[in-house]
Amino acid sequence: MNMPLIAQLLALHRRLRQRDSWTREQLSAHQAASLQRLRAHAYANSPFFQRFHAGLHAAPLRELPVLTKAQVMEHFDELATDRRIRRVDIERHVSNLRKDERCLDRYWVTATSGSTGRRGLFLFDRSAWLGVLATFARAPAEAQIAGTLDVAPSAIFTSAELLTDETRRTIEAAWGKRMFDQYAATETGNIAGECEQHAGLHVIEDLMILEVVDGDNRPVAPGTYGDKLLATVLFNRSQPLIRYELSDRVRLAAAPCSCGRPYVLIDGIEGRAEEVLRFAGARGGEVAVNPHVFHRVMDAAPVRGWQVVQESDRLDVLLSGGRDDGVNAALSAALGRELTAQGIVVPPIRVRNVPEIPRGATGKVLLIASHVSQGQQR
Ligand SMILES: [Zn+2]
Repeated sequence: MNMPLIAQLLALHRRLRQRDSWTREQLSAHQAASLQRLRAHAYANSPFFQRFHAGLHAAPLRELPVLTKAQVMEHFDELATDRRIRRVDIERHVSNLRKDERCLDRYWVTATSGSTGRRGLFLFDRSAWLGVLATFARAPAEAQIAGTLDVAPSAIFTSAELLTDETRRTIEAAWGKRMFDQYAATETGNIAGECEQHAGLHVIEDLMILEVVDGDNRPVAPGTYGDKLLATVLFNRSQPLIRYELSDRVRLAAAPCSCGRPYVLIDGIEGRAEEVLRFAGARGGEVAVNPHVFHRVMDAAPVRGWQVVQESDRLDVLLSGGRDDGVNAALSAALGRELTAQGIVVPPIRVRNVPEIPRGATGKVLLIASHVSQGQQR
């Protein structure tokens, strides 16, 4: 019989915490060995990666091609390392998801709504799912509540809309309220989280390799914003993600953190440039609100789709596939709180249910958009 998820998670967490005292050299050696094991597994079991990395099986990571969400979805079955996996089955599973059900009795599934209008589906077996949960358990909160962890469950709820009740309970049991800022993605779990210094977000580099790159996939130096991120998830063997493209703009800190942990710090997250909205600041001037502020609230909403549109005199929130059982008022209040915390003059928020989220001129569903002309917005 399987050990309960929560017990496994706590045991894993204790093991991972020991890595906080590694040197940078130890961390690099661990990354290299983990990457080699991941790639060997992918080349032995994924027809997609055999082909995608043909002639490059021994090449350094930085020479490998970038993997996009569109490619993951297009080559879903052959990218997976379990030959029983069929995208059509996963799609059906996700549409009929009931409580505590795993796909093929084995896989947890997360989905991106995605501003491209195309849903991404991501699979995790038990070991990989523990890895995801562990990424959220890296904040040093143990000292504050003895015997428990105390980091943000809200971050995973916002990124993994298809969490089962069992997982939700596991996280709630392990974590209390939000104490440390985190940066997460549906595909990877948590990417980075604050330590007690609150000087930036430590990239969880023992579980993933993160490259901050420009538009041509060239590395960007610390202190400068990249155009996107390339994430290599070291703990997911079922659906390997190697140099997977995330379109967020982040900046690595130029100096190491004073806490002594070996992991690099992210000290700026802009998200997608076109999704950054600018508002009048409560103390004057203009304040840029990053997309993850909206995602934090909206991705947790019990709806199929959402869109936030900034108008000159208000903020419109459109919801599709949901019912207003008090949800809309709660969302409006939650969004108001998040925006107040950003230090802006919060405009009136109008939440409406619509049959479909309208597509933009390019056919894309934009999750966050502005109808206010602002010089600095693209
Ligand atoms: Zn630190």
